[in-house]
Amino acid sequence: ASLSNGQSESFVKIPTIKFTKLFINGEFVDALSGNTFETIDPRTGEVIARIAEGKKEDVDLAVKAAREAFDNGPWPRLPGSERGRIMMKFADLIDQNIEELAGLDAIDAGKLYTWCKLVDIPQVAGTLRYYAGAADKIHGDVLKMSRELQAYTLREPIGVVGHIIPWNFPSTMFFAKVSPALAAGCTMILKPAEQTPLSALFYAHLAKLAGIPSGVLNVVNGFGPTAGAAISSHMDIDAVSFTGSTEIGREVMQAAARSNLKPVSLELGGKSPLIIFDDADVDKAADLALLGILYNKGEICVASSRVFVQEGIYDEFEKKLVEKSKSWIVGDPFDPKVRQGPQVDKQQFDKILSYIEHGKREGATLLFGGKPVGDKGYYIEPTVFTNVKEDMIIAQDEIFGPVMALMKFKTIEDAIKSANNTKYGLAAGIVTQNLDKANTVSRSIRAGIIWVNCYLAFDKDCPYGGYKMSGFGRDFGLEALHKYLQVKSVVTPIYNSPW
Ligand code: ADP
Repeated sequence: ASLSNGQSESFVKIPTIKFTKLFINGEFVDALSGNTFETIDPRTGEVIARIAEGKKEDVDLAVKAAREAFDNGPWPRLPGSERGRIMMKFADLIDQNIEELAGLDAIDAGKLYTWCKLVDIPQVAGTLRYYAGAADKIHGDVLKMSRELQAYTLREPIGVVGHIIPWNFPSTMFFAKVSPALAAGCTMILKPAEQTPLSALFYAHLAKLAGIPSGVLNVVNGFGPTAGAAISSHMDIDAVSFTGSTEIGREVMQAAARSNLKPVSLELGGKSPLIIFDDADVDKAADLALLGILYNKGEICVASSRVFVQEGIYDEFEKKLVEKSKSWIVGDPFDPKVRQGPQVDKQQFDKILSYIEHGKREGATLLFGGKPVGDKGYYIEPTVFTNVKEDMIIAQDEIFGPVMALMKFKTIEDAIKSANNTKYGLAAGIVTQNLDKANTVSRSIRAGIIWVNCYLAFDKDCPYGGYKMSGFGRDFGLEALHKYLQVKSVVTPIYNSPW
């Protein structure tokens, strides 16, 4: 394919955009207002397609469809095994369309095509299958109460669910939310991020082909303050699952409280520490540190944005980082040689560069990077700051870009104290050969996932979510299923009961 920006490389075929409307009650429809918005190719800043822009009235229609599907439709009433069978079919359809789906996420979010093809998209099919397998294993308990009573508990679907997701992992986030909710028997409306509307619409199409009934899964693209806020404040949505910034998470929770007190789960920002001890394999540690901050161009909430290295290996580690960063090629995400694509949009690009300027002004030292790459698109060099003090803005704020703050520590106590010196608590990494250190630090860091001698190791069955201001509630694993279920107790007298 010849790219519109004149980079006439033909790495892979860029998919044609087939779906641009809203998906409500099993049909692709225009927004009621007729409005559309542009989705931009971050490689060039050019428009990929115009997308129907949903607002409150479209959200209302989608919620009405989801309510009808919940109250009167088959989905919540099907045997779990039947929901599971349909979800398996959905997963098979994803497998049959991997390349096209990978292409959509790559062009919309600047993600590496090869990673999407080999990792993200196959993993979402796996996530669906995991929850498909759980759909017929949802059950309550039988309880012997005091006196002559017994009870049984039912785990019922919570109802109509609203999902609001970000742009950094459009496919992964879609299925992190939708798969357990489908398994639970919920019906739902999902709002993708306005930066990445494309793959969600393709998934809606595949859901219909798989036989998911109309109204069960609705996709409404649009902006946060309009479509997003209409979901969080809706009186007829029973729960909201949100992934995004801490700032917006707070708004979502407030809107939920002000409207119908719907429960929310929030997966928010992070400033995750990676702690590397003197006994570590320095080569491996440097690889992990770079992967942790540069994977998905730093646009990942668990990025290892604060790296603490023990003093004995600090100098050697710094040298390794410089050396290894040279093989980290920045460029077109469709090029298989490239390891880092463009930031998602101009706003993100500007924000990251302004944090880099801030770091310089605060007195941190640039070890390497710090500049944009090329003269078009939103590319930024892998960037590492040294001489960082814990209270600097670049060591406190979530930058959401390829910018690492490197710091030195002396003792394990210092490392723990510094690592916990953040309002966030999403993830942490530890590199050491010493089991006692690994265990001590794992238990001392207040974060939802700890990676020992690895980083970014995710899978569908491993719960993931925040401590502190990184939010609450868990995605993935059987934990996530419980967000979409509620418990009802049914009490009956037993034989010879005075009741
Ligand atoms: P980021 O900073 O990563 O873009 P945001 O928190 O701004 O993350 O966005 C995450 C998701 O929340 C997106 O789908 C966005 O449209 C949505 N959103 C933004 N503002 C609001 C809001 N006021 N209410 C509900 N959703 C919102």
